[in-house]
Amino acid sequence: MTKKLNDLLKKLDALYKEANLPCKKCPDTNLFGRGCCYGCMSSNGFFELDHIRRSQNRTKQLNNLKEKYKFDLRLGFFEEGKGCKLPRAERSTLCNKYFCLECSVPNEYEIRTVCKEITIEKEKLDMIY
Ligand code: SF4
Ligand code: SF4
Repeated sequence: MTKKLNDLLKKLDALYKEANLPCKKCPDTNLFGRGCCYGCMSSNGFFELDHIRRSQNRTKQLNNLKEKYKFDLRLGFFEEGKGCKLPRAERSTLCNKYFCLECSVPNEYEIRTVCKEITIEKEKLDMIY
């Protein structure tokens, strides 16, 4: 990982702390308390699958991630009562920039901008996003 990517990921973490989202007490109980993570399993953590499938290296990265964080055949990377098992730095861009309608995010623009920059850096480094 480059210093630039590391700095961007730290910035994203700081922005999320500042945003103070209600996700830990996700109000969307209609989806079995999993909220927007409901489709995690079927969508492979919302990673860009077309981008991943075009390279063996990227396919391997996704498989390694699934093995490391024990991707579940029902819940994906989600763990009941806890939330996402992936550290934010390893989550897909879509997961990192998604907010439901319950969330009022004052720094949404900044979060989306940093997510875009992270994606560009990951693309350069042949990393999945
Ligand atoms: S973004 Fe919304 S639906 Fe998703 S976990 Fe947070 S509060 Fe729940
Ligand atoms: S935030 Fe984590 S648990 Fe939720 S959909 Fe993304 S990878 Fe899955």
